[in-house]
Amino acid sequence: MPLFGALEAGGTKMVCAVGDEQGNILERISLPTRTPEETVPDMLDFYRGKNLAAMGIGCFGPVDLDRSSPTYGSILATPKLSWRNYPIVQRFEEALGLPVGFDTDVNAAALGEAVWGCTQAVENSIYITVGTGVGVGVIIGGKPYHGMSHPEAGHIFIDRHPDDPMEQGICPYHPNCLEGLASGPSIERRWGKKAQELSDRPEVWALEAFYVAQAVCNYMLTLAPERIILGGGVMHQEQMLPLVREEVRRQLGGYLQGRAIDDLESYIVPISLHDNQGVMGAVKLAMNALPA
Ligand code: ADP
Ligand code: ZN
Repeated sequence: MPLFGALEAGGTKMVCAVGDEQGNILERISLPTRTPEETVPDMLDFYRGKNLAAMGIGCFGPVDLDRSSPTYGSILATPKLSWRNYPIVQRFEEALGLPVGFDTDVNAAALGEAVWGCTQAVENSIYITVGTGVGVGVIIGGKPYHGMSHPEAGHIFIDRHPDDPMEQGICPYHPNCLEGLASGPSIERRWGKKAQELSDRPEVWALEAFYVAQAVCNYMLTLAPERIILGGGVMHQEQMLPLVREEVRRQLGGYLQGRAIDDLESYIVPISLHDNQGVMGAVKLAMNALPA
């Protein structure tokens, strides 16, 4: 059975794995993300000599996914300066001599869940991560969605809560986008403590759910996904998911109707692949990269 290399490239860590075509992860290591010069050789060492058929990369963005572009497969305007304009796909193709499938980290995670996880039964779904950043992977017709680029739905504009003690969001590009108001670092900035140390402060999670629910409502109204997955470090707060469902119902104001709305517990769900959704999605990207 062929083996595939899978990389979940994140701003904090690189998860390198080997998987098979059933999505089993046979080997997995995690390396801290340093500069490309320091990190890439270690990653390549992991994949070498493993007799892989192809490689798949789910990468922090923004990335260039336009195959007709001269910079296809590069990382674009990331705040991690050493990775800006880094041609990650080309580097892996050349060093390993393998076809490389490529997409955003969140599209990969959405794909992993769609192929092997909790969105298998539907064709159209989204995966939202609320962590160091906020990102959204979109699956339409069973495939990661790309248009003029990949979605950047972590940066949608959100109404600030009138009682938000923070004057504006922390995104350097937008005063009031979702990531700037609801990411883990924005929680830390607003309340002066790490998000994981604020579990016993109900006002923190009420406000967080208000923002995440606004985003969820907007995605429901624009994309009508059949199921929505919420992942990322901030969603480790167990109080969040029920609060988000409650806020979504309130904010929709009774406008949308149907089975999904009647049963938000099965519509807005947690991850199902134990934080392997990203690398499993990267395995699928690798499978898709094999010549037909
Ligand atoms: P990344 O986005 O870097 O891949 P994570 O998804 O783990 O990583 O997100 C990290 C963010 O999640 C940090 O801002 C951290 O404060 C927050 N976080 C991690 N664990 C928890 C928790 N149990 N409760 C609330 N926030 C958390
Ligand atoms: Zn923004």
